[in-house]
Amino acid sequence: MVPASIYALIIPFLAAPAFAEAPFSFDGAPGRLPKDVVPQDYDIALVPDIAAHTVRGTEAITLNVRSATSTLTFNSLNQRLEHVLFDGRPVPKVESDNKVQLTKVTLPKLAAPGLHRLAFSYNGKIESQPFGLYTQSFKRPDGATDVLVSTKFEATDARRMFPCWDEPAFRATFRVSITVPAAWATIGNMPIAKRTVNGALVTTHFKRTPKMPTYLVELTAGNFAEISASVDKTGLSIWAVRGQEQDGATALANARQILADYNDYFGYPFPLPKLDSIATPGGFTGAMENWGAITYNDQILLITPSSTIRNRQNVYSVQAHEMAHQWNGDLVTMGWWDDLWLNESFASWRAAKETDLRHPDWLWWEVEDARKEGAMDADARQASHAIQQHVTNELEARRAFDPQITYAKGEAVLRMLEAYVGPDKFRDGIRSYMKAHAFSNATTTDLWLALDAASGRAVSEVAADWTAQAGYPLVIATAKCDASGNRSVTLAQKRFLLEGEDPGHSHWRVPMRVRAGMAAVPEPTLLAEDDQRVAAGRCDQALSLNPDAIGFYRVAYDDKTLETDRLAFPSLPSGDRIALLDDQWALVQAGRQKIDRYLELAAAMGTDLNDRAWSQIIEALGRIENYERGTSGHNAFNAYARSILKPVAAVLGWDPHPNETAPLLHLRRQVIRQLGEWGETDIVAEARRRFDGYLANPASLDPDDQVVVLSIVATNADQPMFEKLHGIIRSAHNETELDRYLHALMRVRDPILAQQALDIALSNEIPPQADGIRLQLIYDAAEQNPALTWAAFRDHVEQVMAAYPQYRPLYLAQNIPEYLWNAVPLDDLEAWLKVRIPPEMASNLSRGMQAARFKLRKKTEIASAADAYLASRTHGTSR
Ligand SMILES: [Zn+2]
Repeated sequence: MVPASIYALIIPFLAAPAFAEAPFSFDGAPGRLPKDVVPQDYDIALVPDIAAHTVRGTEAITLNVRSATSTLTFNSLNQRLEHVLFDGRPVPKVESDNKVQLTKVTLPKLAAPGLHRLAFSYNGKIESQPFGLYTQSFKRPDGATDVLVSTKFEATDARRMFPCWDEPAFRATFRVSITVPAAWATIGNMPIAKRTVNGALVTTHFKRTPKMPTYLVELTAGNFAEISASVDKTGLSIWAVRGQEQDGATALANARQILADYNDYFGYPFPLPKLDSIATPGGFTGAMENWGAITYNDQILLITPSSTIRNRQNVYSVQAHEMAHQWNGDLVTMGWWDDLWLNESFASWRAAKETDLRHPDWLWWEVEDARKEGAMDADARQASHAIQQHVTNELEARRAFDPQITYAKGEAVLRMLEAYVGPDKFRDGIRSYMKAHAFSNATTTDLWLALDAASGRAVSEVAADWTAQAGYPLVIATAKCDASGNRSVTLAQKRFLLEGEDPGHSHWRVPMRVRAGMAAVPEPTLLAEDDQRVAAGRCDQALSLNPDAIGFYRVAYDDKTLETDRLAFPSLPSGDRIALLDDQWALVQAGRQKIDRYLELAAAMGTDLNDRAWSQIIEALGRIENYERGTSGHNAFNAYARSILKPVAAVLGWDPHPNETAPLLHLRRQVIRQLGEWGETDIVAEARRRFDGYLANPASLDPDDQVVVLSIVATNADQPMFEKLHGIIRSAHNETELDRYLHALMRVRDPILAQQALDIALSNEIPPQADGIRLQLIYDAAEQNPALTWAAFRDHVEQVMAAYPQYRPLYLAQNIPEYLWNAVPLDDLEAWLKVRIPPEMASNLSRGMQAARFKLRKKTEIASAADAYLASRTHGTSR
């Protein structure tokens, strides 16, 4: 990062103290590689030996030498370079160091400024984990074992396949060829230029790419087939293992819709001739936005009759995310990993907006509220970090892929800013940002400049408060009534923390809106000063200071206003109710609100049928029930929690009516499932009856109902029932089913059976392409049997984490403490984790441990507060 003093001259109005940075310039971009030599074009030929896990490569790079130099420094990892020629002449010295992932070439003589050519051949490695160039073995639909090769480079693994300038500002063009078995399909960023069959092998040459960063280069080869369509001039294909390509039909229809929408929104038509989406079986667990050739784990791209509604929703939203990256990330790339949010927050926000636009009945922003709450939870800890975070060198870049802050908080902050600026002006700003930086890089400042210009306001001043500092405000609202019943509200703010006080006295300009009563359009107001006063309707009207739950802040109302809202609760707009539930529960956890107030709001839901509001309540009641385990208050709380949900279950019944929306179907299933897991007798009996019907005739339960019935049966299972569930797992027809059955099995409560379930999760009953599921099964099992789960995880950590070579340190540091907080003394857990993560992840570990210790402390406090509340109800002392 370039010192802040320089920026003060360039953008004097940008008031962000912590992270002011300049507009993008190649020379100003951070990084380890010298900027005096810049690659222009790569010509790479690869001949993999899949059985031997090696690759033979030849590479020629056109270089622009900007100032005379006698050395070249670039990235490499696990390669041995041979026959290294500079402008056709052998070089005297080549030193490759895997530890720092660099190769230094000493030139025969000083190279003058201008174009030069570096050529070499090399021997490299094919990985067996999903990074660099890797192989993945898998079971084909016909049961035979097969293998494919593919690539996954972000953030810094292009260098595992070919020596290169592996930093995002070093954009270049690429011509790639690969030689593989002749029966295989080959897919790259660009269309095929030429295929030459030579006996049993085929060499495929792809056309030259536009200028792009190394981390977006892609190659996949294997026994694949495709289905295709087109939008405008762009060819669209979905690729899958041969025989499964028709399962890509939904994804193809989605891609057509999304591409047309994005061409319009970004004001810059997709610039490549084609866009492939490749469903690779297993190993690789996510999706990656390689330009023109997006790779997906097949479970998040293909839809089969075994898929649930949630599977379909995930396919749509993940496609919308990866396709948004074709602009935010690929066409315009962050200059350095500090600004990863320009890729990830934007793709997440754009995907949610697109999903909501095209599936209004999914109420997608309400679904996303759960993600926002996850982010707000993480961001309410002292150890949280800003959306823009400093990355010293690219080996630290993986730290930046924090799902809660870089993805979810960034998404929510962008939504709030869009509402503040107005959607049209916000879009105009993004259009001019795309146009100005196409085929190049950008910094956050470039984005702010574009938004300021498009909106005619200093958006940057508000926005930087949210991206450059950690945390978010608690807005404290105190209402006053005048003699004629008109209300005004005084607003103050402080950083919301679950524990402790803000050491830094943070301050935000908060783009708020005020809804008094049932007003359809809330009044915007920017909270900038302390003790700012706003008019807020009449005193007897409900008041929402975060209408539709759009703001990334919390609100603490005075008692009287909260009581007015509680009385009006059933008639509030859904988003306002969701915001109240979210905030009141967070305030309870922070020790700023009595649990009574939250539980009274939950009870005020009655039989309202909003899915997200109930998810929030189920999660909170579930947390309290978990804290109550092993205490004398458990039975009473369990009965109370069931009494809150039972009226909703009674209204909904087990069987849907025709044409119910996805949220309503989801609500029914989540309420029934939770009651069953809490042991509600009638529900458990009905689940068992339906389970017997399913055993006799599997078609009697649709995939979504299987999730419910199998989970309830598993939670309450005895040994014979467990055997039946295990039998279903063995008969799974595909990975989608296997995944569903295994997740259900891990709910089992009985410790002897839980050990058997963990043994299955670690066995080779899970085929190689489903490796990644093991970690999720560990998370599931931890809920019912933490100590057993910890022992299984500890003893098999290498196997469980194998599918996550890149995210392993992040998951160990942040997720494991959150899931295993009550499994093992936390000092022991911390010591165990500390030696398994690299030193640069220390702050991530401290975040994870802070979350775990918080839960442990809250267990006693919240359980006894809930006990006291229930006792006060019994004795009639409640309000
Ligand atoms: Zn992404």
